Amino acid sequence: MNIYEQINLKKVINASGKMTALGASIVNPLVADYMKEAAMNYVIIEALIDKAGEIIASYTGAEDGCVTIGASAGIAISTAACIAKDNLSHIERLPDSEGMNNEVIIQKGHSVNFGAPIAQMIRLGGGVPIEVGQANKVEKDHIEAAINDKTVALLYVKSHHAVQKGMVSMKDMIEIAHKYNLPLIVDGAAEEDLKKYVALGIDLVIYSGGKAIEGSTSGFIAGKKQLISYCKKQYKGIGRAMKVGKENIMGLLKAIELYSTKDKKSTVEKQKKLVQWMADEIDKIDGLTASIIKDEAGREIYRVSVKVNTNLKNIDATHVIKELEGGAPAIYTRNHYANIGIINIDPRPMIDGDEKYIVNRLKEIMENLSE
Ligand SMILES: *Cc1c(COP(=O)(O)O)cnc(C)c1O
Repeated sequence: MNIYEQINLKKVINASGKMTALGASIVNPLVADYMKEAAMNYVIIEALIDKAGEIIASYTGAEDGCVTIGASAGIAISTAACIAKDNLSHIERLPDSEGMNNEVIIQKGHSVNFGAPIAQMIRLGGGVPIEVGQANKVEKDHIEAAINDKTVALLYVKSHHAVQKGMVSMKDMIEIAHKYNLPLIVDGAAEEDLKKYVALGIDLVIYSGGKAIEGSTSGFIAGKKQLISYCKKQYKGIGRAMKVGKENIMGLLKAIELYSTKDKKSTVEKQKKLVQWMADEIDKIDGLTASIIKDEAGREIYRVSVKVNTNLKNIDATHVIKELEGGAPAIYTRNHYANIGIINIDPRPMIDGDEKYIVNRLKEIMENLSE
């Protein structure tokens, strides 16, 4: 019995992704050891935050870093930093930013919900989100026309949640930011490359510590020295409500270290093999067809795409999902395309043996349905 089952909570098989709703990531035992040791000792937090920033900088190539409790806090703190800078009276007044320059420009197709709205995280930092263009079409002109004296930053969201087509490219956003001398913030919460966006000269790049990095509940902002110093100052203001504990900071640092030395190629190869095996097995099940698809945001992630044959009576993807989630252990799949009859299986959060359990459970569900 795991610790959650001991308090009568269901065991979960995660084939969905690094989902906050399922506990994001499970950490490597080395990360857990680090967290335990950190939790059992005192430290000067300000010094820890500075040291963590240095270490984050060394892994990202940025000038400096600021730890956060997650990427959402990263958005709020980055926004606050661009508005209040190091002005303590302003820092202490946020998110009320009346009379301050406070507009953050974001493309309509980037103003998405990742579990909560991006726009709300901007507001939490005292920002006024200025959404430009349309959900499926934004042009450079839309961005430039929205820039005025009150603009403090541009925000670009690099994510599978965002609209992938018809948006102004990151390259163009960088150009506009330079032209108007505005900071560009990139929300790369679930991105796997910790260096790429920093290397493009982006002012503040936000990551989640619990997604690709598989660390503790945490996140960080990597970026330019002065802006990062403003970010850290926000811990005297709105940041306090998003406090990142010492054990989470240390868990993040160990996780980044492990992540940076991880053999990503062999991990991907292993995952490809696993999804191939699952696709072959699931494809044999009556009423299901399975294939392998690559991540829609272009990351090196391969998933099983299971199509539910809706011609069979009473069967649609939503029904199968309900059965999967209703069992014990509960199986959670990736369901963004359930409305078109597709269930995706993500190998990244799965642990050894889950694949057999999932295949067997799908067999069981489909057999029971066709009776
Ligand atoms: C997950 C996610 C977030 C929030 O990250 P947390 O670390 O859970 O706070 C923000 N933005 C995007 C695009 C995300 O995918």
